[in-house]
Amino acid sequence: MTLNNLNFQTPYLKLDEECYAFTNPTPLDAPYLISFNPLTAKLIGLDTQSATDPLLVSWLNGTFIPKEVRPFSMCYAGHQFGHYATRLGDGRAINVGTINGWNLQTKGSGETLYSRMADGRASIPSSIREYLMSEAMHHLGIPSTRAIAIIGSENKLLRNTIERGAIVMRMSPSWVRFGTFQYLHHFQEYDKLKALCDYVILESYPHLQNDADKYFKFFAEVVERTAQLIARWQSIGFCHGVMNTDNMSIAGLTLDYGPFSMLDDFDFGFVCNKTDKAGRYSYGEQPNISYWNLTKLSEALPSLIDKKRMVQKLDDYGEFIYPNAYIEVMRKKLGLTLIKESDKTLITNLVGTLQDAYIDYTLFFRTLSHYDGERMPLFELAMNPVPLDAWLNLYDTRLSQETQALEIRQKNMLQTNPKYVLKNYMLEEAIVLAKSGDFSRVETLLYIASHPFDELPEFEHFSQETEEGYKNITLACSS
Ligand code: AMP
Ligand code: MG
Repeated sequence: MTLNNLNFQTPYLKLDEECYAFTNPTPLDAPYLISFNPLTAKLIGLDTQSATDPLLVSWLNGTFIPKEVRPFSMCYAGHQFGHYATRLGDGRAINVGTINGWNLQTKGSGETLYSRMADGRASIPSSIREYLMSEAMHHLGIPSTRAIAIIGSENKLLRNTIERGAIVMRMSPSWVRFGTFQYLHHFQEYDKLKALCDYVILESYPHLQNDADKYFKFFAEVVERTAQLIARWQSIGFCHGVMNTDNMSIAGLTLDYGPFSMLDDFDFGFVCNKTDKAGRYSYGEQPNISYWNLTKLSEALPSLIDKKRMVQKLDDYGEFIYPNAYIEVMRKKLGLTLIKESDKTLITNLVGTLQDAYIDYTLFFRTLSHYDGERMPLFELAMNPVPLDAWLNLYDTRLSQETQALEIRQKNMLQTNPKYVLKNYMLEEAIVLAKSGDFSRVETLLYIASHPFDELPEFEHFSQETEEGYKNITLACSS
């Protein structure tokens, strides 16, 4: 269908007016298309030829608004670096309709009721990063919001340097955050909170709708989904960078891409967010922080759910829900099909080994996927191969307990351990080119992002170890 024919709805507007504010987008000057993703466009029923439809740019820029849509921004609160902010909300995102279960937002469309002191804009670099990385995460099998297209402009934005304004059209099955619940709880709006919870159940947990114990089960499933999400982040080496409760998705998705980073060399203590001096959101802390964030969510729900039951669920999260989710994904990465008591030790030992070996995390697992007993290819990756040798002894013993053929193991591991991830240096290079008007690298990375497990000979260099000096690049929050 063409843009004119799409039929949008705005179900969120059935909630109380305290949950949102009607917002008109403020268009950018001289907008132009940077990239269009036909894969996501298809999901909302949009023709892939729309890339050349001038209406596409107008739609992202807010100068074309489908007649049935009244754009709005959502209100929420949240704990930012441990401190509660009573009202945050979409300071630069505007909801522009729901279709096929996808809620569309333009990010960078100007001031909203929730912009506080900021400009409501998003820069070209941060928009390209969100656009590409959300797609990469999806294809890596990690639940994430996605994006349809991105436009640039001549508008000047004051950031660390002068940047140009951009708008990314992003889409998600849900934009509700832990902080959305915190907001209503804080003001003791318990009826409105219940309505929000019913809305979220309908949107993201519809199988619970008629369950007599639906609110507790909803909480239990949020806990489960969060465990699955964070286990996947850890397993792939993704650092979110700003795990504030307003950036935690109630539907268990990766949400709000800011100063994120994929690990280059494995480093448990890596902090990708320059602003995070204390390392609160370091790679290794992410599981603990997710527990803390779930605790804050539970503290916003006592009007609906028995506290003791939530506390028990949270205890379970720390004790076995998260650890089991992590061991399960790591077992898969290691090509192990049987469940053995010793797997936990094998995995813990591996994490320590990688830390001591100074080794590219992605490349290690990809190389391990070809492992047939010959250790040299793995040793060649490490600055310090000694600990790796010891760990491989353990791994060999463990592999000898498996019944699966070597070729099958390798095949499965190659489908689990990506050849390509989007490292920060790759995104940086694409951004530098895009700023000079060359969007070809954005297209290349979009292609790579959609084929993480494939062998792509023309892009082999992107699968190699990151060059010294470009490893573990950190970014600031402001974007
Ligand atoms: P973040 O942690 O980056 O997702 O953002 C935290 C809060 O700041 C959210 O309420 C955002 O909407 C808001 N925010 C971030 N950047 C801007 C901006 N340039 N203009 C307005 N609000 C912003
Ligand atoms: Mg946010």
